[in-house]
Amino acid sequence: MEDQDWADQARCRGVDPELFFARGLHEARPALKVCARCPVKDQCLTYAISHDIDHGVWGGLTERQRRAFARRSALARVS
Ligand code: SF4
Repeated sequence: MEDQDWADQARCRGVDPELFFARGLHEARPALKVCARCPVKDQCLTYAISHDIDHGVWGGLTERQRRAFARRSALARVS
């Protein structure tokens, strides 16, 4: 079983999930503000990338930002 204990410390617990599925960077700002103060941001981002989650704000990044981050990480691994 996968360790998801980090989710217990998620800053978004109890926050309206709709906030995290807004379209576009401007609409995602309230969610990104929540993530900015989240103690498990890194674990959340790693989880989203390793599970190919392509919708919503995870780990303090929008889906677009996350795709760019994943691409940069993959390039860094091969260079
Ligand atoms: S980084 Fe954002 S989406 Fe991820 S657990 Fe923290 S508050 Fe929730």
